[in-house]
Order: sequence, then structure tokens, then C-alpha cells
Amino acid sequence: MSAGHVVIVGAGQGGLQAAMSLRQAGHEGPITLIGAEKGLPYQRPPLSKAFLKTGEADKLALRPASYFEKKVITFRPGSRVDAIDRQARVVRIGDGEIPYDHLILATGTRNVVPPLPGIDRALGLRTLEDARALRQALERPRRVAVIGGGFIGLEFAAVARALGHQVTVAEAAPRLMARAVSPEMSRRFEALHRSMGTGLHLDAPVAEVTDAGVVLGDGHMIAADLVLLAAGVRPNDALAVAAGLPVANGIVVDECLCTPDPRIYALGDCAAFPDPVSGLAIRLESVQAATDHARTIARSISSGQPCRFDAVPWFWSDQADCKLQIAGLATPEDEEMPAGEKAVLRFRNDRLTAVETLNDAKIHMAARRLLASDHVPTRDILAAKDYDLSAF
Ligand SMILES: Cc1cc2nc3c(=O)[nH]c(=O)nc-3n(C[C@H](O)[C@H](O)[C@H](O)COP(=O)(O)OP(=O)(O)OC[C@H]3O[C@@H](n4cnc5c(N)ncnc54)[C@H](O)[C@@H]3O)c2cc1C
Repeated sequence: MSAGHVVIVGAGQGGLQAAMSLRQAGHEGPITLIGAEKGLPYQRPPLSKAFLKTGEADKLALRPASYFEKKVITFRPGSRVDAIDRQARVVRIGDGEIPYDHLILATGTRNVVPPLPGIDRALGLRTLEDARALRQALERPRRVAVIGGGFIGLEFAAVARALGHQVTVAEAAPRLMARAVSPEMSRRFEALHRSMGTGLHLDAPVAEVTDAGVVLGDGHMIAADLVLLAAGVRPNDALAVAAGLPVANGIVVDECLCTPDPRIYALGDCAAFPDPVSGLAIRLESVQAATDHARTIARSISSGQPCRFDAVPWFWSDQADCKLQIAGLATPEDEEMPAGEKAVLRFRNDRLTAVETLNDAKIHMAARRLLASDHVPTRDILAAKDYDLSAF
């Protein structure tokens, strides 16, 4: 069993999981978890969903304060790591420094802020503080404009609409959630949001935010007194860059989530890792990736043996009464094959890459099992069963 000091930078979903998994795996040495945000580590997914309605912040905490004492984990909230000195093997916080034997970078992402006139009038949705500000803004009747028709923008739009606000979404791409789902699923969610009375502008890049609302590239004006900016995120990789570690849309790690410095790992939203299926470098923004990365790193550190990351990705999004679940990983170019009302299968070169389901947890779980197995059925075999995954 390992006994060195593990320092984790970032106390979000993945950072906390790394600390927990290290103790579960029997790591006996000290663990220090450092988070820039104040308060206990919390879950972000409810911030664009239930929290906007209920405001119940207590329910978001991933572990109570007593957990850290019980597991002998030094938790330092409200502390930002300013630099990593790889020679001295220390991280710097203000004037102080903390030595490490192993360092885990779990710094997450920050919102992309496009350089548009008036963009600072828009609010973001990344932290509990952001969600509190939005919730407060939604206490009065509003005309809401959402910049970005991805998961977070659409989840927020669905809640705001359900609360009775007038909502309009502007999306620069020709379809909703284009990076992550099939054209068929985009159409279904477009229909859902339109049926709720939400205005949708597709192929509609925003040119400016003013006191009166949002101006689109073609001059169209969306009148709004609350604007949410949900136009994507960038990995927090500045510490890695300054420390001379390679970054390319995230902190570059190998199949064991280790940087070229064998003492430094990266996980979750900030890590660019090789997709176990294609070998291509990818970065995933999901609870599953952050937690499964953390478990893999904890196994490597505690056993002293490098462990490969090979989990099947999965993701979910709740919009109104629709739960979208995605198992596997498709690119926007992958072919789509609708299978009944509730599922869409994705293929690349006739190989099943992902399965999207709507309100069907059973098929989602079947897809995860199938994609994780050594014998993923070919397209022919799936076609012979009418693409019904429950038949496998
Ligand atoms: C509104 C919202 C809704 C979401 N919904 C879903 C969903 O439905 N399903 C899903 O799978 N995923 C969802 N996600 C994504 C999911 O929350 C993230 O993928 C996950 O939190 C990533 O975990 P992480 O540990 O990599 O980063 P984070 O949880 O973002 O944590 C990173 C932490 O590092 C801290 N940090 C950064 N730099 C420093 C530094 N120098 N020093 C100290 N601390 C630092 C940050 O302050 C932050 O607290 C959602 C995200 C948001 C914002």
C-alpha cells in the first residue's frame, strides 16, 4: 500500500471522488484536498435543474464536514493553488507551499465568454453562487434569453419556462445539442421546447447583448431582461501550462490519466485523455468521467501499478419531463438509426458507438452493458433484431 502525500487541486466532483477512492483503496498516507470555492464539495448537475426550483443548497453537498475528519482528509476550501513547482514537488498557495508525492489536477472548466459587446450583462451557470443569482433573478416575471442550445442552456430554459417565464434560446449551430446528440434527438428536443412555448433561433449566432436584450447576427432582436450565457466551457489548464505540462484542449494525459510527469495526474473536465475505443484524445464534461477517472487514479496510486482507464462513457440531461441518457461516445458525423420512440443508435463504420434513450433507463443500462462487453454486436446482428437492445 502507498503512503505518500497525495495533494488534489480542485474539490469538485472528481477531486472529492479521488480522495474518497484513495481511502477506499487503502491509501494510508496523508491526503490534502484543495478547493478554490468556499464550502463543502457539491454536485453541479442539480444547479440547472431542481435547485433552480427548490433552492435547497443543503441537498447538494456530496459529503458532510464530518466525513473529512473521519477519513483523515485535510480539506482546504476557499484556497486557490497558484503554482506547481515540479522540481521542489510543492504546490503554492499565496505565500505558503504544500509538498506532494503525488499530485492530482481536478480543476474543472470555466465558461467560455465570447468577445461580444455587452456580454458582461449576461449571467453564467457554473457554480452554486451562479445558480443562486439566477434563482433570485427568476423570482420576478422575466423575459429570458439563453445564449447556447446545449445541455445546460436547454435545462435552464426548461426550468425557466416551467416557472412561467417567457424564454427564447439562440443557438449558433443549425440544431440543438449538436456536439453531443444525433440529428434525430435534436429534432425531438426542438419539438419538446417549442411545445412548451419556448422560442428557438437556430443557426443564430449572437452579435451583441444590450440593455434591451440580445441582438442576433442577422439583426433580429430578442427582447430580454435576463440573459444566460451557456455557450460552452474551457478547461482550467493554466497551472499545468505554467508548470510546463502539455495541454491541448485539456491537460494531456495517457491511458492511465498520468501526465508526462509520473507524479502528476489529471482527471475530469480538465483532462484530455485517449478514448479507450478510438485512441483519439477526448475531453468529457460529465460526472461519470470525473468519478471513473478518480477511481482509476486512486487504484494506480494505492497499488503502485499504473491502471488503465477503460470505462464506457455515459451522460444524462433532464429537460422538462424528458430524461435523455447517452451511453457510449458518438461524433456528430456518426450515422443515426432511430429504434422506436425511445432510442436512437449511433454507428461509425457499422460499429455501434453510442445509444441515446428518452425516459428509458432499462435500454440505457442494456446499452452500457453491451458497449462494455467484449462482443458488441455488429450492425447486421442489431438490424436482424430491429435494433431492439433488450433482445441482447
Ligand atoms: C449547471 C451544470 C449542470 C450539469 N449537469 C450535468 C448532468 O446532468 N450530467 C452530468 O454528467 N454532468 C453534468 N454537469 C457536468 C459535471 O458537473 C462536471 O462534468 C463535473 O462536475 C466535473 O467534475 P470535475 O471534478 O472535473 O470539475 P468540477 O466539479 O467543476 O470541479 C473543479 C473544481 O476545481 C476548482 N479549482 C479550479 N482551479 C483551482 C485551483 N487553482 N485551486 C483550487 N481549486 C481550483 C474549481 O473552483 C472547482 O470547484 C453539469 C455541470 C453544470 C455546471
